[in-house]
Amino acid sequence: GFNCGIVGLPNVGKSTLFNALTQTAAAQAANYPFCTIEPNVGRVAVPDPRLDELARIGKSIKKVPTSLEFVDIAGLVRGASRGEGLGNQFLANIREVDAIVHVLRCFEDGDITHVEGSVDPVRDAETVETELMLADLDSLEKRLVPAQKKAKNGDKESAAFVALAEPIIAALSAGKPARTAVPKGEEAAAARLQLMTTKPVLYVCNVEEGSAATGNAHSARVEEMARAQGAKAVIVSAAIEDEISQMAEGDRAEFLDSLGLHDSGLDRIIRAGYELLGLITYFTVGPKESRAWTINRGTKAPQAAAVIHNDFERGFIACETIAYDDFVALGGEGGAKEAGKMRVEGKEYVVKDGDVLLFRFNV
Ligand code: GDP
Repeated sequence: GFNCGIVGLPNVGKSTLFNALTQTAAAQAANYPFCTIEPNVGRVAVPDPRLDELARIGKSIKKVPTSLEFVDIAGLVRGASRGEGLGNQFLANIREVDAIVHVLRCFEDGDITHVEGSVDPVRDAETVETELMLADLDSLEKRLVPAQKKAKNGDKESAAFVALAEPIIAALSAGKPARTAVPKGEEAAAARLQLMTTKPVLYVCNVEEGSAATGNAHSARVEEMARAQGAKAVIVSAAIEDEISQMAEGDRAEFLDSLGLHDSGLDRIIRAGYELLGLITYFTVGPKESRAWTINRGTKAPQAAAVIHNDFERGFIACETIAYDDFVALGGEGGAKEAGKMRVEGKEYVVKDGDVLLFRFNV
């Protein structure tokens, strides 16, 4: 599955958020196979109102949402790249995630110590990013000299590594994250370098309860920083999320309403994480179940089918496709068929977000 690593300085609210996520997962587990996989890994459902609508129209007995994993990565402090705190372990964990959810303390509370002595989320973001950049620089420099030697002796793979790594090393040395030096089209090759500052980042501004709907001056600065980086920021109150996660499903909407919120911060983090990873959803709808499936944007129909079952890719013949809006507007499969809105697509079809699919395959 796809996963997001939750990082940030100590005492910013990471564990509070992670616990809220896993509480939510535990509540979901009654209906769905979502759970805490390991103490620091939780899988949660991706909220998607489209699934409810499809299941209603398709009169499905069951709804199965798709999911996303979150990993709580503890131990980041200033100096982590030199092995301070849980330094090395922290770095190993973060190399394995697909995207980074960076929690920033945007709440004032004299009772809760800030490791840097004051609340300043932009400074904190830079502190964490600096550790990640130093670790990336170290890891690339270690590999560079041997690769240069091999490249001189005609090794093509090493030459490709050197060509990709040199500009990244220059960027990192100048205090810029690796992602700023990855040429267009080289994203996949860069991902194989296992760097941390090529990973997409979502900033989570943890504000005090009263600012959950509006944000505050601290979160406004984070949003400005995120905009300048082309990154995304969401505003949440970890304290509120913690409360919500312990409530019965039916009481949540009313509680959120009373705070002037439309949806929970966790839902926004989950959805933003999904987007950050470049993921889209297609659906299968039947009387037994309606189900959401996750694929990378740009995936073709046979590979999309493989998410359901490997055999579906091998035996793929075609897929019957109805766009979500057509399915809903025309009252389901029958109506869409009659209106000529059900298309039969082949091997080269690039699946779109919201497609309702039925695969035809040989077994
Ligand atoms: P971590 O070290 O980043 O995992 O931080 P924790 O989640 O353990 O939170 C550190 C402390 O800050 C705990 O005492 C939390 O109760 C408190 N805390 C977390 N979020 C908030 C918040 O939004 N407001 C206030 N006032 N305290 C918070």
